[in-house]
Amino acid sequence: MIPFLDLKQINEPHQASIQKAVERVIESGWYVLGREVEAFEHQFAAYCQTRHCIGVANGLDALMLVLKAWDFPANSEVIVASNAYIASVLSITHAGLVPVFVEPDPRTYLLDPTHIEAAITFRTKAILPVHLYGRCCDMNPINELAQQYGLKVLEDAAQAHGATYECNRAKVSHRRAGNLGDAAGWSFYPSKNLGALGDAGAITTNDDALADAVRAWRNYGSAEKYVNEYLGHNSRLDELQAAVLSAKLPLLNKENDRRRILAERYLTGIKNPDVMLPPADQIEQDAWHLFVIQHPQRDHFQMYLRERGIGTDIHYPIPPHQQLAYTPFAYLSLPIAEQLHQNGLSLPLNPALTDDEVTYIIETINSMSQRAKE
Ligand SMILES: *Cc1c(COP(=O)(O)O)cnc(C)c1O
Repeated sequence: MIPFLDLKQINEPHQASIQKAVERVIESGWYVLGREVEAFEHQFAAYCQTRHCIGVANGLDALMLVLKAWDFPANSEVIVASNAYIASVLSITHAGLVPVFVEPDPRTYLLDPTHIEAAITFRTKAILPVHLYGRCCDMNPINELAQQYGLKVLEDAAQAHGATYECNRAKVSHRRAGNLGDAAGWSFYPSKNLGALGDAGAITTNDDALADAVRAWRNYGSAEKYVNEYLGHNSRLDELQAAVLSAKLPLLNKENDRRRILAERYLTGIKNPDVMLPPADQIEQDAWHLFVIQHPQRDHFQMYLRERGIGTDIHYPIPPHQQLAYTPFAYLSLPIAEQLHQNGLSLPLNPALTDDEVTYIIETINSMSQRAKE
């Protein structure tokens, strides 16, 4: 059986350094917002090439706290892709704002910049591009539109640790995700490319004032102990999780390179005409958090693979506007998102996957089309 993802396997190469990190924290006697968090914030800011990184409790909070800190009028609108992960949309709602769904490009799964302008109203305050599955959204046209209409850009980089994009705003080309807009929200949920041993998140930005504000927002709205400027939250990053992330960060690029090699093998090896592969034009820039194909009989295809010992997953089975939590949006017709949620299937792709396993997966997928023809 090839599991879709085995977190124990993923963390095995880090075991010694994680153990050292955990012991260091136990010894320190300091467990919340201390030296480990500060150290990780510096390391991750350097990795993303941003001026600031602010550790928070999780990815949803990272996005929500930025939106709150921007202090838009209640019910302002935020543009987000109709196939976004639910947490991206919840961050908008929990900040007292209204999501406006724009359909993605059906090939890349990413917010389609050509559809954004028609969705902008006098209430629009921000665009929330989600770098879904590890590939950066087309940020140049998104930033241009934002500038033209005076909107903020908040990247949801929760799936894009180490992804790059040739950004016009950048002084250097190939700027990393997290440094392509006004601010970015990160998740270090255990299954992400950089994952903690529990919940963790961060915000990256080059905006000094925003960095100060979210530092206060994560800690009861307080920059100075017992003095409260905002109706803040408790969304602090643990010392333990920060220490684990610092231990794992040095191997992130190597692990992403392994993901790229495996993705390329899928892209060149899978010849089943019923399987629509993701585009192969940005293998090196993509962080390949997930390898999502489309199949017209997705559920049948998933069952076929499961019967042959291959675990897969669906990201995601229900689009946000069709969730019970979002019944006010149930009237919307968003056919591209609806089709992607119906046809999308994630194949195993992680640094622990072996060459032989990938060979077997490719052969199994290709043999299915031959059997169908016979
Ligand atoms: C994981 C994820 C989040 C939320 O992160 P949590 O740490 O689980 O709150 C947000 N957006 C995207 C795209 C994600 O993949």
